[in-house]
Amino acid sequence: QAKRDGRACFRIFTAALDRRIRDRRLLESELRHALVTGDGLKIDYQPLFETRGERLVAFEALVRWEHPRLGLLQPADFLDIAEESGLIIPLGDWVLERGCRTLSGWPEVSLAVNVSPGQLSKDGWVEHVLEILQNTGFDLSRLQLEVTEHTILDLPVAVEKLRQFRSAGIKIVLDDFGTGYSSLSHLQKLAIDKVKIDRSFVQDLVNERESKAIIRAVTRLGRSLGVSVTAEGVETEQQRSFVRALGCEEMQGFLLSKPLSEADTIDLLEHLARQVVRTGTPEPGDK
Ligand code: C2E
Ligand code: MG
Ligand code: MG
Ligand code: MG
Repeated sequence: QAKRDGRACFRIFTAALDRRIRDRRLLESELRHALVTGDGLKIDYQPLFETRGERLVAFEALVRWEHPRLGLLQPADFLDIAEESGLIIPLGDWVLERGCRTLSGWPEVSLAVNVSPGQLSKDGWVEHVLEILQNTGFDLSRLQLEVTEHTILDLPVAVEKLRQFRSAGIKIVLDDFGTGYSSLSHLQKLAIDKVKIDRSFVQDLVNERESKAIIRAVTRLGRSLGVSVTAEGVETEQQRSFVRALGCEEMQGFLLSKPLSEADTIDLLEHLARQVVRTGTPEPGDK
């Protein structure tokens, strides 16, 4: 009996595994198709604000996939597959090019784009990025590439590529800082312009003294090294006043704005531009 149960169990298990493998293969071929036709892929843009004055300074491009069968997919649903299949290269190119085209008419804001390990390890990728910037007429100093410590530490070649980007004038951001094997010494050793403190710290701020101490230490060190500090995941008024008091230069989070569709992003920029014309200064937080 036990043996028979075991065998049945095994069959169920392999059937489930088969199905998962088939699902992944299907999703991969659908993603490949979407990248060829451009159908269904889109970018939401989440604004970043200065903590002082709350001027809008940048947008982070966050990819989404409106899937014909499965509905709206988030990056967590398909980035693994993109990375494993190599599709992260055309996907990353698509995000970069689309983001540059969308924001090219708005010289007052920067564009932040997330970068995966597969992109950084690809030969010729630096040159390719520079080519996309040239073709879209996007100013290099307005582009920010977001990489995680994970990516940098797993990839010896990454550091050299980041240096190449940086010497071309592109900004490098260390994303999700504080997760993984964070070390303050990275700030000094790596060629980076900006650190984004992971939202887990920001969300602990109100209760945890440690989170406060960590953010304060990072902003202090950042200031002395010329590395600017952003707080991500600001969801409450209290978190906003903490990150401001602790010395973070910029912030991002649902309290300030959720990621916006491309159309809403343009509307917001046009609205802000009209305010500048009318009053000479944009009104903070107003939209
Ligand atoms: P990330 O770069 O750390 O991006 C921030 C994520 O936090 C986004 O999730 C954003 O929607 C979410 N977020 C922003 N503010 C808040 C907040 O106040 N509270 C909470 N709970 N969440 C907030 P999303 O869009 O699901 O992206 C997840 C991750 O996927 C990103 O994390 C990034 O690592 C990756 N990703 C997104 N787009 C791309 C892309 O085009 N290329 C690559 N390689 N990775 C991407
Ligand atoms: Mg990011
Ligand atoms: Mg992040
Ligand atoms: Mg994060």
